[in-house]
Formats: sequence, structure tokens, C-alpha cells
Amino acid sequence: MTTVLEPATAQAMAEIPAAGIEETDAAVARAKAAFPRWRAVAPGDRARLLYALAATIEGRHEELSVLEARNAGKPISDARGEIGMTIETFRYYAAAPERLLGRTIPVGGGEAMTFREPLGVVGLIVPWNFPLTIAAWKVAPALAAGNTVVLKPAELTPLTALELERLALEAGLPEGVVNVVAGPGSVCGRRLVEHPDVAKIAFTGSTEVGRGIAAGAADTIKRVTLELGGKSANVIFGDADLEAAAAAAPLAVFGNAGQDCCARSRILVQRSCLDRFMFVFEDAVRAIRVGDPLDERTQMGPVISEEQREKVASYVPGEAVVAFRGSAPEGPGFWFPPTVLAPCSNHDRSAQEEIFGPVAAVIPFEDEADAVRIANDTIYGLSGSIWTRDGARAMRMARAIDAGALSVNSNTSVRVTTPFGGFKQSGIGRELGPDALEGYTEVKSVYFAVDPAASAPGELLDPAAPDTESIS
Ligand code: NDP
Repeated sequence: MTTVLEPATAQAMAEIPAAGIEETDAAVARAKAAFPRWRAVAPGDRARLLYALAATIEGRHEELSVLEARNAGKPISDARGEIGMTIETFRYYAAAPERLLGRTIPVGGGEAMTFREPLGVVGLIVPWNFPLTIAAWKVAPALAAGNTVVLKPAELTPLTALELERLALEAGLPEGVVNVVAGPGSVCGRRLVEHPDVAKIAFTGSTEVGRGIAAGAADTIKRVTLELGGKSANVIFGDADLEAAAAAAPLAVFGNAGQDCCARSRILVQRSCLDRFMFVFEDAVRAIRVGDPLDERTQMGPVISEEQREKVASYVPGEAVVAFRGSAPEGPGFWFPPTVLAPCSNHDRSAQEEIFGPVAAVIPFEDEADAVRIANDTIYGLSGSIWTRDGARAMRMARAIDAGALSVNSNTSVRVTTPFGGFKQSGIGRELGPDALEGYTEVKSVYFAVDPAASAPGELLDPAAPDTESIS
């Protein structure tokens, strides 16, 4: 059995059976058996079942929000938003089965066309920071495209994923289409990566584990989507609405207790406005309400585990670099106060490594070129923001920063309808929007002979022209 903890109290909240190799193999076998039937479901019926699943989740919105808030230690208001996004994600992809279009391509002697075929069984490995939402980003497009899935949640936060398996059956999806294995990544996750009957792995988590998954998938030439770490820059120019930028900056890094791959944990501030920025920013950080996830007023909860708290603490070396800190409750639970390190160099460990906790590094810059250089001086390229009132500068910066999802005068970068994913070591492939759907299909090209004689070179062709059939 696995004991599931509540990070705000460090107490057990559930005991669940721990899955191992045998359970993982059984889940893959169920998904494999269900695949022929699921791929043959008429597109309109598949759409109706996905709408039904969205409605079934909606019927449990509050219950799932409370479960997620308790298990992941996140504020209840955030958890409600995340379950809302989960529902929206299933609705968005429910429309997809009837819009999986191919192309017709002009050829001689017949017709050529393309189809988007499902891959088969896909393995989905998700982390603990946004448990059900990130699962939905993968499950919904995978099912819409006609695949069956084996979902492996993080061992720390398996509860809403286990609910999803039950809700899929309740919504009328056939047995074996959605399967959940709750067990350790080093056992169940690894088995999915190695398994010859799994066609693709879609993974969100650390760059380190992502590297191992890419290597492991090579043996069976699995398709891989990796959504990995980040060290995103929040770039604030002197000509920005500084009050708005400084007021928004705290939750852009301390939201979800900093455990967000999009966290703008490097705050790049133009030196000419640094003092003014820090003045407003400090007040905003000190005002963050850190506490009980189930309290409606809470804005930040604990970090996920004692291990994570120790990891985060290792980035806060001494009071010398700590500019200021917010508050955190005393007592049990994995609490860590919002912490601002300033001024930092981009070469500092805290500016280069993904801390995944409530720690921000403030880095001054001189001008636009300096801002681009610092923003790109990282192994990551996931997200980021640009704050300026100069539209042309905003566009130049957005084009120059190597990251998959940027925002201007805003700190949001994730929407159901737009692609999300990383440059460089932040990952491979895209989630959400139409791009994710394509990632769960193979393109098949079919040539249909109609009049084979017509494919021979015609009399209108110049005999000296190269024969296109012989060009490979
Ligand atoms: P991991 O990358 O270890 O975990 C992510 C998922 O992968 C979990 O479901 C985990 O299972 C599974 N997993 C672990 N090892 C393997 C393996 N060998 N093969 C297949 N699957 C595996 O993240 P951690 O939870 O350990 O967090 C560590 C650090 O990773 C964080 O501090 C943060 O820096 C980064 N991280 C980044 C995330 C992001 O969204 N970019 C999300 C989470 C973490 P299980 O947990 O059950 O063992």
C-alpha cells in the first residue's frame, strides 16, 4: 500500500494499493484489447462520449477541487480553476474527432490522400504539480484521436487520476479505454517506456527523468512528447506600467508555491527602474496570504513534500542575498515562505537551476540587447513575459527570446486553445491547441489508382525534362 500525504499537515489522507510491473502490464493489455473497438467508434459518437466525460467531471467539480487542494497542497481557488481547465480541455478535444481532416494531393493516374490514424496504446506520465489538469492535456487529445491510454500519475498525487478512471466509465467510455496505474515512476513509468505494446510516451516532469525517457524510448522507436523544466524570465522594462508589472510578479513565481514549470523565477528588471520596482514588489510579496489550502483567502500553500522543501532550502544560502521574505505558517506541513534573492547574477545557481519552489531571483539589466542575452542564457526555453509600453520593442523581444510560450504585459502562458511546450532542454513537442492532437496521430498517405495509363508521361511533356518518378 502507498500512503498519500496531505502537504499542509504532513498527515496521511489516503492509503492506496501500489501498482508494480504486473499491474502496468495488465493495464497495457486492457488498453491494447480496447483499442480496435475505440478507434472504430464513429467520430460523432466519440465526440459525444468525450462531451459526456467533460459533463461528468463538471458534476464533481467541487469534490475534485477539494481532493486536489488537499493532496497537492494548493489553494482551493486555484484547484477550482484547474478542474475548470480540465473540463474545458475535454470539451475542446471533444470537438476534434469530427475535425481530424486529411488532405487530397494532386497526382497522375489516380488520387492521393492522407489520413490521420491513431497510434494505439499511449503511456502518459504526469507530475504532482497540476495532477489532473496535466493529465487532461494528454488524455483528452489522445482519446479524441482514437488512442487508448495508460495514465501514470505521480506517486505523491494519484487521487484525482484514480477518480478520472472511474468517471470515464461512468460517462460511458468502454472498459479499457482509460487505465490508471498508481505506482512509482522508477517501476511503472519505466515499464511503460520499455513496453513493446506502447506506441508513444507523453511525459511532463523533470528534465533529468525526461532525458532517461528519451533514451529508453529509443529501443522501441516510441514517439515521445516531453514537457520538461523551465527557468523563465519575467522581463520588465523601465517604460512598462511598473505598478502593474510589480503587482503581478509575485504570483507569477510564487503561484502553486513556485512549483510550476512556467514560473517566472528570473525577474529581469531594467536597472533604471530597479528601486521603484523593488519598492512595489516587496509590498506585494509580503501581502501574499500563505496558509491552509482550504481557506478561501489563501493564495499560496505548502510545497509538496519534505524532500522538496529541503531541495528549495538549498538554494537560499545566507541572509546576505535574501532581499526579503514573505510569511509562512509554523508547525507541521511542508511550509516555505516566498523568498526574493536580489540582486543576482544570471550565473548564480539560483538563476540557472529550476528550483521548483517559492524562490525568485531578481537580475538587473541595462538595455534591450542585454535583456535578450540574459533571458536566453539558460538551458531552458519554456515560457516568459515582457512588460513594456513600446509595442515594437515587445514584438522584437517576443521574437528574440527562445521560448515556447511568451506573454506581453501579462504573466499567463497556458490556454487550452494555444500550443504549449519548450525550446531547448524544456522539451520536445507541443501540448494543447491543435498541435497536441497531431502528436497523437500518424499521417498515412494512400494512393488510389483510377486510370494507371494516365500516370505515364503524356505527349505534352518535354522528353528532355527529368523523370520525376526516378528522383528519390
Ligand atoms: P519527476 O520528473 O521525477 O516525476 C515526474 C513523473 O515521472 C512522475 O509521475 C514520476 O513518478 C515519473 N517518473 C520518475 N522516474 C521515472 C522513470 N525512471 N521513468 C518513468 N517515469 C518516471 O519529478 P519529481 O517529482 O521527482 O520532481 C523533481 C523535480 O522535477 C522538481 O523539483 C522540478 O524541478 C522538476 N519537475 C518539473 C515539472 C514540470 O512540470 N516541468 C513537474 C514536476 C517536477 P513518481 O513521482 O511516482 O516516482
